[in-house]
Amino acid sequence: MFERIERVPGDAILGLIEAFNKDNNPEKVDLGVGVYRDAAGNTPIMRAVKEAEAILLKNETTKTYIGSHGDPRYAKVILPLVLGADSPVLEQQRASATQAPGGTGALRLAADFIYTQLPGSSIWVSDPTWPNHLGIFMGAGLALYKYPYVDAENRLDFASMLETLKQIPQGDVVVLHACCHNPSGFDLSQEQWQQVLEVVKERDLLPLIDFAYQGFGEGLDEDAYGVRLMAEKLDNVLITSSCSKNFGIYRERTGALIVVAKDQEQMENVRSQIAIVARENYSNPPAHGGSIVMEILESEELAKDWRKELTEMRDRINGLRREFVEALKPHGLDEKFACVAEQRGMFSYTGLSAEQVDRLRDEFSIYMVRSGRANVAGMSSDKLPYIVKAIAAVCK
Ligand code: PMP
Repeated sequence: MFERIERVPGDAILGLIEAFNKDNNPEKVDLGVGVYRDAAGNTPIMRAVKEAEAILLKNETTKTYIGSHGDPRYAKVILPLVLGADSPVLEQQRASATQAPGGTGALRLAADFIYTQLPGSSIWVSDPTWPNHLGIFMGAGLALYKYPYVDAENRLDFASMLETLKQIPQGDVVVLHACCHNPSGFDLSQEQWQQVLEVVKERDLLPLIDFAYQGFGEGLDEDAYGVRLMAEKLDNVLITSSCSKNFGIYRERTGALIVVAKDQEQMENVRSQIAIVARENYSNPPAHGGSIVMEILESEELAKDWRKELTEMRDRINGLRREFVEALKPHGLDEKFACVAEQRGMFSYTGLSAEQVDRLRDEFSIYMVRSGRANVAGMSSDKLPYIVKAIAAVCK
């Protein structure tokens, strides 16, 4: 039977990692992979996470199932983090969180829920978007369409985005990146979020907000602006939250699907359906990552240190963005790459062409995705002069 199975090429990013590891050039730079890096190029375990794990190891008494919705304590800490501690939505008891295996697992729950409970609803994603969105949504059986997001000049094309959203059939789902848009780094301003809200209301669309980088853009609360606006002003919102990046617990698979409904009754109805899709996919989510997050957020001291370290990470990235553009000045390229200082999150659409990306790899051992997406966290102050010189060479 298996003789009929065709082999497909692996993930482009995995190929990039392999090529990077094989490269003997001591100056090589990895701007491809999608994880946070410190100045030494490591993806460290955050201090508060280490401490929380030590506490867990000492105090954990059971490994029994945690239930399809996950640990209720996790929901209790994640809802205020995402929606705001004094959110009227929490006061109104119309939000619920289901712990899931990462943001990816939460997205799949959302997709399965939409497919089974909102039949006929298509899903709309930004062009470009995180490539896995396509696989997750289409894999769940949803019809997928795209709305424009970045134009040919490598700018946020908000006018076209809004124009397309205005044409979306009533009842369809629109996927929005809460902050730190992956892959482009272009985020919506507060005014733009308000305009999107108006269209969503007018067309009676269901926003599915992917919140994978809370705290990586401007701050934990600042990054939640669009999420909280939609949750407070609309009757129906889905939010997929991830703790992979902001707690640095990528491999622990920690996320949540948050449902915001008109009232508690409707929220409970939706919640009961979410439990079914969770059970059918994996029964129960993994517990360890959620336990780390609970341990940290329930402790004033650990939470304070976590926020401090997250701020350091964010400041490092945003500092590098400014330094990068500044370093391009002597080459007369600062205006061409000015967007990099404006973009937020780990990723940037640099505007470099696939050919320029190939040259950076072949001639300078600088690795990034062929779309021109760079992981800014892969840069460091000491590597900047080399990176900038290489970019100047391929831009000639
Ligand atoms: N959404 C976006 C936009 C992402 O970039 C990612 C991670 N790369 C995810 C969701 C999924 O994150 P997780 O690792 O928590 O599954």
